[in-house]
Amino acid sequence: MIWDTHAHLNDRQFDVDRDEVIERARQGGVTTIINIGDSEATSRQAVSLAAKYPFIYASVGVHPHEAKNCNEETWTNLSRLAQNPKVVAWGEIGLDYYRNLSPRDVQRQVFIRQLELADEMGLPVVIHDRDAHGDILQILKKHPPQAGGVFHSFSGSWEMAKELLSLGFYLSFSGPLTFKNNRKTVEVATNIPEDRFVVETDCPYLTPEPYRGKRNEPLYVNQVINKIAELKGISTEKAALLAVENSRRLFRITK
Ligand SMILES: [Zn+2]
Repeated sequence: MIWDTHAHLNDRQFDVDRDEVIERARQGGVTTIINIGDSEATSRQAVSLAAKYPFIYASVGVHPHEAKNCNEETWTNLSRLAQNPKVVAWGEIGLDYYRNLSPRDVQRQVFIRQLELADEMGLPVVIHDRDAHGDILQILKKHPPQAGGVFHSFSGSWEMAKELLSLGFYLSFSGPLTFKNNRKTVEVATNIPEDRFVVETDCPYLTPEPYRGKRNEPLYVNQVINKIAELKGISTEKAALLAVENSRRLFRITK
């Protein structure tokens, strides 16, 4: 039993075979999927898909790329969606200084606003951090999320990881952990305490080895678990069990 804690099943790349992709994941032992919103539209779609499948949960939120398109109405609508019992997190939110698709000051405002909304709704946050470690840390220290949160597809150093762990965050690993020469992430996954990691695909992006170059899908979270088991010198079953226990605690899912 394995959970994919971060999938974008509403991506257009799944329009042709979404139900088959979900079925394939189930057949391959993926028992729960958290489908992530990254705009008002995909948050709404994530909640709809969660209504269709008992083992799929949703998050709502606006990605930093979309920050420039938000207004008060966005927050009203997302807060309403977040009341749905299948919504288990607010995100993905954060800062992206790599692509800069929204102005940085707008990204920061929108990030802080959503940290406040997550607190109001009592939800943990899912954080996207790309080349913005310094500003993210500064903001989180000023606005520590009350229900905690996770850094998804964590790509930082072990130094950064230690700081986030001390602030109570979980770290999530995805396909890049399986890439050759990814020493930084390997070091983090090797050293992270057993009670603080979760796994994800971030599909359709970040496809793990040996499927690199193809579309990613929830089934391939197996590759990430295999790699963690190898690094920690434990069985795949044990690694999967730890990740599931951690995911339950993080997202407060008891089923
Ligand atoms: Zn994502």
